[in-house]
Amino acid sequence: PASSYRPTRQVDSLCPYCGVGCQVRYHVAGEGAAQRIVFAEGGDGPANAGRLCVKGRYGFTYSRNRERLTTPLIRRPEVPKGTVVDPAAPLTAFREASWDEALDAAAAGLLRIRHAHGPHALAGFGSAKGSNEEAYLFQKLVRTGFGTHNVDHCTRLCHASSVAALLEGIGSGAVSNPVRDVDFADVIIVIGANPAANHPVAASFIKNAVKGGNHEGQSGGNRGGAKLVLMDPRATPLARHAWRVLQFRADADVALLLSMACTIIEEGLTDADFIAARTEGFEAFRDAALNYPPERTAALTGIAAATVREVARAYARGPNSMILWGMGVSQHTHGTDNVRALIALALMTGQIGRRGTGLHPLRGQNNVQGASDAGLIPMMLPDYQKVADPAVRARFEALWQAPLAQTPGLTVVEIIDAACAGQIRGMYIEGENPAMSDPDLAHAREGLAKLEHLVVQDIFLTETAMFADVVLPASSLFEKGGSFTNTDRLVQLARPVLPLPGEARPDWWIIQEIARRMGLGWDYPGPGAVFDELVQAMPSHGGMSWAKLEAEGAIVAPKLAADAPSEPVLFQACFPTANGRGRFVAVAPLPAAELPDEDYPMVLITGRVLEHWHTGSMTRRAEVLDALDPDPWCAVHPADLARLGVATGGRVALQTRRGRIELEARADEGVRAGTVFMAFCYREAAANLLTQPALDPFGKIPEFKYCALRVEAVS
Ligand code: SF4
Repeated sequence: PASSYRPTRQVDSLCPYCGVGCQVRYHVAGEGAAQRIVFAEGGDGPANAGRLCVKGRYGFTYSRNRERLTTPLIRRPEVPKGTVVDPAAPLTAFREASWDEALDAAAAGLLRIRHAHGPHALAGFGSAKGSNEEAYLFQKLVRTGFGTHNVDHCTRLCHASSVAALLEGIGSGAVSNPVRDVDFADVIIVIGANPAANHPVAASFIKNAVKGGNHEGQSGGNRGGAKLVLMDPRATPLARHAWRVLQFRADADVALLLSMACTIIEEGLTDADFIAARTEGFEAFRDAALNYPPERTAALTGIAAATVREVARAYARGPNSMILWGMGVSQHTHGTDNVRALIALALMTGQIGRRGTGLHPLRGQNNVQGASDAGLIPMMLPDYQKVADPAVRARFEALWQAPLAQTPGLTVVEIIDAACAGQIRGMYIEGENPAMSDPDLAHAREGLAKLEHLVVQDIFLTETAMFADVVLPASSLFEKGGSFTNTDRLVQLARPVLPLPGEARPDWWIIQEIARRMGLGWDYPGPGAVFDELVQAMPSHGGMSWAKLEAEGAIVAPKLAADAPSEPVLFQACFPTANGRGRFVAVAPLPAAELPDEDYPMVLITGRVLEHWHTGSMTRRAEVLDALDPDPWCAVHPADLARLGVATGGRVALQTRRGRIELEARADEGVRAGTVFMAFCYREAAANLLTQPALDPFGKIPEFKYCALRVEAVS
């Protein structure tokens, strides 16, 4: 009846998708278990000022999708792991269990492996879609209950190389300036990112910075006229608003950035005072950069020297210039070098430490910043405190009243490799989907199938859950309270909008129940108590408290003391490095790990699309979003399609050394000839069956943005 769609209450919470961290007002109808969100509108949050994109506005219905897991499940022994199961009919492979039976089985399997093979035979993937409290508890469980640092999450697949370079260069892995500082920038460089699809509200602020219309009433803002430079192998939608578009060859980014640095040095545009007062290591970087004048690299990058020089001059002269980047920068075997070069550009020109300047890695998931801060990283305890440092370990052993392993753990891809090799035998995966998100999926799925014991905690029977021994039905963002940290370092409070469906439980509760069954005497009454312990573990959050967060709704990190100011613009006077100086690191261009050849003459780039989110587990089950983009497709240059004899909308086969998929091809002049782009959200044609697992040696991030490809017409 129409009355069941009439909203009766409103709840202010957050968007479940990207790192922009939009606040949302949800309008809810119905009573009891029949409650549903009827519509959503943008809340007046610091990050979105009332704006939402299509995902935030229409993507909430997945929480009541009929495939939602509502009962704990245990695998039927006769069904082999990895058997493809209709997520709407999980009982073909699993049987229902009580919570006690499922939790007992989950913990017993992990304990059995720990006793038989030692703590390092276990590993856990936490979630960037969960709250800070859930991330904190998850890593604490792995470290103190499993007894290993084999804990990681999807940051390893997105910005791990950015974080590695930022910690090394400027002592902080987070952004220096919030997105909305673009309104104070004269030059905005967006490199290796497609914010129009992946951070759409951020893209709207970037467009306003070019056209005017941002930050009404805010001093210095609302002026428009910024020069937007888009640097990307694809001419993505922001290209329409750009002053210059540098559509460079997909593995030539380090060379391109070094050419910009070379121009700035050769033409005397460096900020000598800033370099002398605030940095170290410039000479070695300068000597390396001078080897790559734009005239020398043009053939490699595909960008005319005059264009590179023009952009380099504009960036250096600003007066205020800001760099935002995404996974086109980080997902390379030279991803850390890419970010080192970006840091060097900011340091050599003094374009950091003021409004409208700085470095902004656009974080992907809604809480990937917070999950990283909270310690879901194998070599870092909470707040990026190093596992290898005995003093750090001693502090955490005192706080947690538990001994810690002395050596850092394995990363995402290393854990899967170790599972394939029989070294990792048991895993606990909360809200991650490596059977879709990891590179070389045949290999990743082999590793998952080999596990003796796999516990998956999720809201749907994901491709990963199809390998599980025990499946634990968890909470969507709409059913949980907790803190989430957006790409701007803004810690925001999510509030429960809907009741949990069926027997699903909050993630923090499930993690605690497993911890108890593994011998840890946890007794957290709720997320607030977890957050108040988290701030003890994290000096950068030391001035926060749950009560303060409930009162204010959002607090900018770092917040070192209760009476310390929150500062959206970092590094105004110094960097949080040992000597307070930013560090140049010399880099040189390296080729991608797998180059085109006679058999595989083209290049595959993977990424995301506007309507879908990561592996599609949520957006493919959000009816409006799935209706907008229901089928797998790839973007191919019209000249390549003509050569193949395929019309736009026709089918092609994409084949690499690791796999083959078939899907629709769409003509797209925005991709370079010889290059194909596709998203990794389609389970029917999983892009990561094709990608290859070579890692950046520093960030341990796979090279999702480049592998050799063959394309064929399918009749
Ligand atoms: Fe949600 Fe990101 Fe869209 Fe905002 S920009 S509504 S956070 S997906």
